Amino acid sequence: MTGTFLDLPPWAALAAATVLGACCGSFSNVLIHRLPRNLGVVKGRSFCPQCGKQIAWFDNVPVLSWALLGGKCRHCSARIPARYPLVELAGAACAAVGVLRFDYGPEGWGAALLLLLLVNVALIDWEHMIIPHTLTVVGMVAGLALAAVGAGPGLDRAILGLLVGAGVVLAVSWGWKLARGMMGMGFGDVMLMGMVGAFLGPWAVPAVIFGGALAGTVWALAAGRGRLEGTAKLPFGTFLAGAAAVVLLGGNELAAWYLGRF
Ligand SMILES: [Zn+2]
Repeated sequence: MTGTFLDLPPWAALAAATVLGACCGSFSNVLIHRLPRNLGVVKGRSFCPQCGKQIAWFDNVPVLSWALLGGKCRHCSARIPARYPLVELAGAACAAVGVLRFDYGPEGWGAALLLLLLVNVALIDWEHMIIPHTLTVVGMVAGLALAAVGAGPGLDRAILGLLVGAGVVLAVSWGWKLARGMMGMGFGDVMLMGMVGAFLGPWAVPAVIFGGALAGTVWALAAGRGRLEGTAKLPFGTFLAGAAAVVLLGGNELAAWYLGRF
């Protein structure tokens, strides 16, 4: 550890980062619910979808409120799915993992942001089979901006990574369409890999696509009991997002292990 956060002692810095991550996870719940439904994400307070009552700030504290209310709305007792506190916990974990792995600088906060974006993409694509461009465009801009201030691969390689990531998926999806007469990957996947390339650089792109394709194929085989049916309905972005998280956190170690086998 070379730095800290707001000159706090290490334990307090980690606690602050974790709380910040949980709040971002809380906002992620809003994004995950509203983005695929084309609802605005900035305007409008949170309200219970069952009774329509506005949710007070003290009932909207990440994780704690859900636990204290027993997973139910204060007014109408409608169940609040466990996904909400779980996404808040995931946000906390993204921030903690980012700063613990890469320290309290552009590198660590950038990693935390990328992980959180990947959680959003993975859950939305799994449920709705779309990847909102709002997330990936914001991610591309953030990835380039962070690279410009010294995080990740540096600005020139971040730009190259964005182009390679988007370009490779575009080429693969066109080739797939020509070969099979159907779309294996959509434009959402093109944008997702552009974002991943902007954060991780061009060399991460083939590793993420390979990992995502491998995981997706294994999942499809398991779901189809050995037959590759219905792969057109695979939420490929979810698997790409998982692979991107693995490459972000363990890419160097994986590459060293793989190359060491020869
Ligand atoms: Zn309610």
